[in-house]
Amino acid sequence: MAERKAGVTGRHDQGRHRHWIDGKPVEPASGDYLPTVDPTTREPGDTMAAGSAPDVDRAVDAAAAAYPDWAGRPAAERSDVLHRVADAVAAHAGELMELERACTGKVPAQLRLEADMSAAYFRYYAGVLRAHHGRTIDHGAGALTYTRLEPYGVVAAITPWNLPLNQACRAIAPALAVGNAVVAKPSELTSASTVRLAALATDAGLPDGLLNVVTGTGPDVGTPLAGHPAVRRIAFTGSVATGRHLAAIAADRLVPLTLELGGKSPLVVFADADLDRAVAAAVSAVTANAGQVCSATTRLLVESSVHDEVVARVAEAVERLVPGRDFGPMITEAQYRKVLDHFADARAAGALPVTGGSAYDSGPAARGLYIRPTVYAGVHPDLRIAREEIFGPVLVSLPFTDEADALALADDTEYGLVASVWSGDTARGLRLAERIDAGQVAVNGGPLTVETPFGGFKQSGYGREKGLEALHEYAQIKTVSVALRQ
Ligand code: ADP
Repeated sequence: MAERKAGVTGRHDQGRHRHWIDGKPVEPASGDYLPTVDPTTREPGDTMAAGSAPDVDRAVDAAAAAYPDWAGRPAAERSDVLHRVADAVAAHAGELMELERACTGKVPAQLRLEADMSAAYFRYYAGVLRAHHGRTIDHGAGALTYTRLEPYGVVAAITPWNLPLNQACRAIAPALAVGNAVVAKPSELTSASTVRLAALATDAGLPDGLLNVVTGTGPDVGTPLAGHPAVRRIAFTGSVATGRHLAAIAADRLVPLTLELGGKSPLVVFADADLDRAVAAAVSAVTANAGQVCSATTRLLVESSVHDEVVARVAEAVERLVPGRDFGPMITEAQYRKVLDHFADARAAGALPVTGGSAYDSGPAARGLYIRPTVYAGVHPDLRIAREEIFGPVLVSLPFTDEADALALADDTEYGLVASVWSGDTARGLRLAERIDAGQVAVNGGPLTVETPFGGFKQSGYGREKGLEALHEYAQIKTVSVALRQ
């Protein structure tokens, strides 16, 4: 991609991406840049600024200086700016998708979906911001009591490599809407789109310092950012282990945080379901970002009478999928190895897949980090592949006997992010939806969108992204009460 005028793209020559701090590109204090890789070919790509504590300090200082003016503006003004950011993301979707593609290898439909969602976050919060305010509390004629949604000030958003731009926007848009300033720390493997977003937002009229991006590793940037005394709130999406580490820092500092962690979500299919649609849903759990989605419904629980039929249909459908066309590669080498380790572990435990279970060893896909879509049928519920999040194009199926058994299996996990239930009996679907321990349940393919709150029960985390709820995550409520009697 051609270099544009400095200060606009945030790019450096020869595909080097600097930080974005206080409305401009900034060289890392270390002078170093980290490599990225195109996972479709394993060839090196652009390099990203290797951030460290001095860069974090600079970004947090810029954010702390910028937010009071922003927070003091009328909601309508903040809304106008966020609408312009949404327009900019939509207008530059092609460029953002290319930056994302280069380091993730995602297929075009997935890139388009994520780019559209990224713009939608800004559009949605620009909208609700104008209508959603505090409330008044009736203390009678002798008093006026009301609440205000006030920003925390500086918010840290630490995001992973699976849906890079999308997850950054999911945190940044509501945080800015409430009047905060943000320092974003994307994964060092997939940072380019988030840096570019900040440049686009600046060009679109977002005041300097409100959206800063410091790239680099978790230990070098994420930890000092979470521990910075001026950071008053943390939003984290990523692994349970890193979530625990950041939660400990936040606990020590008494700073609230949102944790969006892993999942091992069930897709429950009753015999009376529309099996065509249920099978399609199972296949999309494999194709959507090649299973690298925390909300992927990869535990296929099927009523015994149709279990074998459903599994056979899913296996047949995933065998027709073409790597690079229908689904992308594993985004990181470490993730690729992890999925292959799961296969080896399952094999050692005597579990063989009905299809897949390996990487591609010939053809163009063998050059990249592609894993064959994989289905394990009728697995023992104690196997690692049945219990741990694999984060790849891998389904495990378990049969169930009745509604109570389905519920017990659905909840037989330490996670609780989402569940998908398929039944011709909607009342049964709803009964299950109300009982399953998960943050969101879709019955017969019900939509889960920008408007619907998203977050986990149990080890899947706490706090909610998306929806009106996220505005409250990034706001602290102030009550003002005035005595009117003389
Ligand atoms: P994964 O293991 O899937 O890469 P992580 O939870 O490690 O997921 O990564 C999610 C985000 O957390 C990334 O931006 C990563 O750099 C960051 N991160 C990883 N380790 C740490 C750490 N020790 N402190 C702060 N942030 C971290």
